[in-house]
Amino acid sequence: MKRNLIGGEWVEGASVRLNINPSDIDEVVGEYAQADASQTLDAIGAARHAQRSWATSGIQARANALEQIGSELLARQQDLGALLSREEGKTLAEGVAEVARAGQIFRFFAGEALRSGGEKLPSVRAQVDVEITREPVGVVGIITPWNFPMAIPAWKIAPALAYGNSVVFKPADLVPGSAWALADIISRSGIPAGVFNLVMGRGSIVGNEIVNSADIRALSFTGSVGTGRHLAQMAAMNFKKIQLEMGGKNPLVILDDADLDIAVDCAIQGAFYSTGQRCTASSRFIVQKGIYERFVERVAEGVRSLSVGHALESTTQIGPVVDGDQLDADLQYIEIGKQEGAKLVCGGELLERRTRGHFLAPAFFADASGEMRIAREEIFGPVACAVPVGTYEEALEVANDSEFGLSAGICTTSLKYATHFKRHMQCGMAMVNVPTAGVDYHVPFGGTKGSSYGSREQGRYAVEFFTTVKTAYTQA
Ligand code: NAD
Repeated sequence: MKRNLIGGEWVEGASVRLNINPSDIDEVVGEYAQADASQTLDAIGAARHAQRSWATSGIQARANALEQIGSELLARQQDLGALLSREEGKTLAEGVAEVARAGQIFRFFAGEALRSGGEKLPSVRAQVDVEITREPVGVVGIITPWNFPMAIPAWKIAPALAYGNSVVFKPADLVPGSAWALADIISRSGIPAGVFNLVMGRGSIVGNEIVNSADIRALSFTGSVGTGRHLAQMAAMNFKKIQLEMGGKNPLVILDDADLDIAVDCAIQGAFYSTGQRCTASSRFIVQKGIYERFVERVAEGVRSLSVGHALESTTQIGPVVDGDQLDADLQYIEIGKQEGAKLVCGGELLERRTRGHFLAPAFFADASGEMRIAREEIFGPVACAVPVGTYEEALEVANDSEFGLSAGICTTSLKYATHFKRHMQCGMAMVNVPTAGVDYHVPFGGTKGSSYGSREQGRYAVEFFTTVKTAYTQA
């Protein structure tokens, strides 16, 4: 059984959770300890105790540890990628790429630890100097979702550690395997006991202690809007710094002048890869009428040819849905789409494979309208719809008519429309002729409106959340 890491010790849980493979629900990937409230408080206490010495350990020590973690992730991308695919269901290629991404992120922040700096300015008072420096926030709570079990923890934990914070990390219930493997690597990187703690367990128990503890000074969360809203309210009670990355309903606009091959590729890649379980997935294609018929026909052809199956099989392009609950939700939305009057062009049915898994044929709806629930609500599965529109202006209006604002794309050969879209689309990430999902790790990530709350993640912009600014005045 894999245990929790609390104060440098591997600790038995209050209970055990089985990690089930969504490609083969008869396979148990492993058994994982579940912490209770008092063990979570122990982890927070250990993190509080260890934080000052980590903050003063020096930038070289921190850079060395992060470099070592990154290098081990990169060296072990094949076996850890397979573990990730077994527990989450994305394909092996996607699992390996995600572990490699996590490795690159740790290496990036090893460099950032060395580049920490400040400013020295003249004061408005003669004889006085002003220095502006960045300090760690303190103990950081990290709560993550199941869909990127390695990359999302990495892009929160790496900057937290780089800037001298200590960490209490609670992964999602469905994916303890990747979290434990990451904790194991971190525990052997030379980081002092208590600086990094892993507490696997329920959101309502472990997560609740993290969000309510006054010792946790900052909380970085990725997950659903409902949980995010609850955490924001709780965190405000003890003035925690908070960063929330939440849902999306990302539009992909296709104009008449688009390169059809690029548009179809962006649509299929963006909507269905990783089984559509990406916060940046394109779930609504907003398509100008002149290209609409050809686009729908080509996307349908592409979707029908996608091979759905066991995540570890080399021919699989689309793995299973993560679990039975998510599968039920996807099927319900497919029914809602039909009832609302959208045309189900292909997919949407359960598939049988050699093993018992949550296999769903990717569902593609045509002739949807921007008012339909399948075009407005986040489904978080392999379900997308096409909405026909007359003009670019109408496309932009439909695209912006959403409570979300994470990622948004346009396929066009017009510089004029591409430029206008980048300026006027209400989103955190705008894509021109590239899929809405798939981002770089050295630049900021995040959204607007109901998709994100707080400062940006990733790249150099991560410093804003994981540090606090101090201004010092000195009279010589
Ligand atoms: P979720 O909100 O159910 O859970 C996220 C995490 O919060 C889990 O670790 C869960 O255990 C924990 N949690 C749940 N209730 C809690 C509580 N009361 N107190 C403290 N913690 C609690 O989300 P999920 O189903 O794991 O993930 C899917 C969602 O994540 C989707 O909405 C998706 O869009 C979103 N997501 C967003 C991004 C982004 O960067 N914007 C990236 C990936 C996923």
